Amino acid sequence: MPKEPLILRGVAGLREQVGTWRKSGETIALVPTMGALHEGHLSLMRLARSQADRVLASIFVNPAQFGPGEDFDRYPRTEAEDLSKLATVGVDAAFVPSVREMYPEGFATRVHIDRLGDVLCGAHRPGHFDGMALIVVKLLTSALPDVAIFGEKDYQQLQIIRRFTADLNIPVRILGGAIEREADGLALSSRNRYLSPEQRKTAVALSAALRAVRDAVKAGGDPSQAAAKAREDVLKAGFDSVDYIEVRDPATLELVTDPGKPARVFGAARLGATRLIDNWAVE
Ligand code: AMP
Repeated sequence: MPKEPLILRGVAGLREQVGTWRKSGETIALVPTMGALHEGHLSLMRLARSQADRVLASIFVNPAQFGPGEDFDRYPRTEAEDLSKLATVGVDAAFVPSVREMYPEGFATRVHIDRLGDVLCGAHRPGHFDGMALIVVKLLTSALPDVAIFGEKDYQQLQIIRRFTADLNIPVRILGGAIEREADGLALSSRNRYLSPEQRKTAVALSAALRAVRDAVKAGGDPSQAAAKAREDVLKAGFDSVDYIEVRDPATLELVTDPGKPARVFGAARLGATRLIDNWAVE
């Protein structure tokens, strides 16, 4: 049986543990998650293993990044299974705080990121990135890891994190991990478990449509036309609505209108009550 990670529930204990590692000269990689772990998360843990002497995962379903009417209450919480999975990839410790620990009585601080946070998911989930940034700032300043690892599945999130860690002089290296997918191309997500078997079959249409945009843009096609066709295709396949399918600059997230420019294809669409996101690099 692989050794289960040490469970830390408070910031004080987390700092003590990190301090112990530091005293022995060890480096630390942090991988923040909201739990309901799947292979996508585990691939980030493995990447973390290759980057530092100690791997610290966090599991926290962060209320600040869910809007009213979003899935905070029904978000899957599977702590025992998650800890067993973390054991299989050699994670040393898991930080699993309560909401009270992270947002004690009197908590009053917000973090906001202009521009990068205003487009794509930022335009469709008001306050989401502020809430995400708030918890990531807290996790980074509590653990002070050498490197923190985030998935390209949430590419906009990754770019926002790069921005605010630079802006706030948080001394950490931010590293992105590649998107893990099912055999048919669906990006792994904790939210996939909401899908009925029927919806699961439809779900693949989002990644397929984004990939088709990538292929069209790569072949010199017009980015906005390709994106418009993808929006139609996703609806035809059975999605209930499309929040966006757009081609944007991978660094600035500005809209790309000319073929031949650096580009990434982003999409978010809804299947019943489930919102799925995905993206593909144009390369
Ligand atoms: P979450 O638990 O959904 O907040 O995700 C935690 C981290 O895992 C984030 O950095 C995500 O981008 C990353 N992640 C989620 N799904 C995948 C995936 N399919 N492949 C790679 N990383 C992922």
